[in-house]
Amino acid sequence: MAKQKPPVKKNQTIELSFQDLTHEGAGVGKVEGYPLFVPYALPGETAKVKVVKVNKNFGFGKLLDIKEVSPERVEPPCDVYVQCGGCQLQHMSYSLQLKMKQNQVKNAMRKIAHLEDVPVHPVLGMEDPWRYRNKVQIPVGERDGELITGFYQKRSHKIIEGMDRCVIQDEVNDRMVEVVRRMADRLGISAYDEEHDKGVLRHIMVRTGQETGETMIVLITRTEELPHQEELVKEIHETYPHVKSIVHNVNKKKTNVIFGKDTKVLWGNEYIYDNIGDIKFAISARSFYQVNPPQTKRLYDTALEYAALTGGETVVDAYCGIGTISLFLAQQAKKVYGVEIVQEAIADAKKNAKLNHIENTEFYVGEAEKVMPWWTAQGLRPDVIVVDPPRKGCDEDLLEAMITMKPERIVYVSCNPSTLARDLRILEDGGYETKQVQPVDMFPQTGHIEAVAEIRLKK
Ligand code: SAH
Repeated sequence: MAKQKPPVKKNQTIELSFQDLTHEGAGVGKVEGYPLFVPYALPGETAKVKVVKVNKNFGFGKLLDIKEVSPERVEPPCDVYVQCGGCQLQHMSYSLQLKMKQNQVKNAMRKIAHLEDVPVHPVLGMEDPWRYRNKVQIPVGERDGELITGFYQKRSHKIIEGMDRCVIQDEVNDRMVEVVRRMADRLGISAYDEEHDKGVLRHIMVRTGQETGETMIVLITRTEELPHQEELVKEIHETYPHVKSIVHNVNKKKTNVIFGKDTKVLWGNEYIYDNIGDIKFAISARSFYQVNPPQTKRLYDTALEYAALTGGETVVDAYCGIGTISLFLAQQAKKVYGVEIVQEAIADAKKNAKLNHIENTEFYVGEAEKVMPWWTAQGLRPDVIVVDPPRKGCDEDLLEAMITMKPERIVYVSCNPSTLARDLRILEDGGYETKQVQPVDMFPQTGHIEAVAEIRLKK
């Protein structure tokens, strides 16, 4: 690390060679040991860079002109890639994306967990890493008297000009956004105007079950009433028979949150259905459902493999959400207890258990870090514990409860390698051993990575 003054100044233009990538996929180059982070630059490249920010130990630059181009650089297929910012890795080959994500997990294991020798397997990637998302929520606006839809530009509330597709989005959803926008435009429905807090249509949400082909459309308005509701609804479902549900949600508040609290079905079913493996899910407008089910299946198959169930085990699934993992585990265990903080998610979990005639699960609403110690006090001694916490990782009380419960195996599903590594260190110190880690690419073209770790009680 540079101890003295940084060797570059703000606004200076320099030539820089890149050796590495950050978590977010920015290129890292060094000037006399002082690292500069430059978005869209790749390792192996040399480029003209403008220094835009100078901190004590590192700085940021803007890519101006690439002199030496990496063979891993590809043309981003998205027309609005840089403006949007929703994807960060479209400019690199998919194989480099996977390598970068594997390295990210490896580095976390080494630097944070101090686990040098734990195998971190190559990332399970998608065969076709495009058009995988099953849900889109897109803002509606107006330009020159016409309705437009598009994501907001990076760090703004300005809808991107001319965005008529999203290349990581299911094609059906892209088309339905356009269809609904055109119909609404023809009927004279106005767009919500955020600045003056008037107008009607705020967002269009479309979710399609990739296995079933069923589509749900949700129209989110500022107003209680959706003008021309009947015509709009009739035209949508008569023209597009794969649409099984049309829902209206009212959000009167001046807020960044998309949904308001009142939801009603305008036409069709309250749910659409989709499958992950053998399990069927009923998905309502407000339900959480994984956005990439085929990769979710691979993630859960790995979790199931690491759980090594034989049919007789008692299992705890902490942070269970709508019970996706619990229901998978239940097929091979004696009993599964799920715990989750969101009440609606637990209602969905129970409903999904019924839907699949799975009778050996019990779901509880509560904070996992409070419920687990309570279960311990009740004498519950699971053979296997599965955790799938949010980005901030497991609560310390929960890690402690696990160490006290002493299950033979722990399976840790994580969406953040840094907190995974931090928590593995605590489990290692509490008598556990990390056997292997399998990263899975649930969100190609973006910087996100999921990983599953197999952890066993030391003999
Ligand atoms: N395993 C589920 C969801 C995992 S996402 C699936 O695959 O679908 C993480 C979940 O943890 C979210 O549903 C979130 O609501 C829940 N959560 C967050 N903090 C929690 C806490 N302290 N106790 C229990 N659940 C919590």
